[in-house]
Amino acid sequence: MPIRDPEKLQIALEHTFRVKICRRCGALNPWDAERCRRCKSRDLRPKRYKK
Ligand SMILES: [Zn+2]
Repeated sequence: MPIRDPEKLQIALEHTFRVKICRRCGALNPWDAERCRRCKSRDLRPKRYKK
């Protein structure tokens, strides 16, 4: 379902991309995670969206 309201779209994007991805195994982790929940690696990167 497409979102037309720009403000809601912005909020939706912020929520969608508030995750971290493990560089080692690619698992998604909570934003405040310090280590990967699957492989315990500390090598996490924030998920970014392209502009
Ligand atoms: Zn991992």
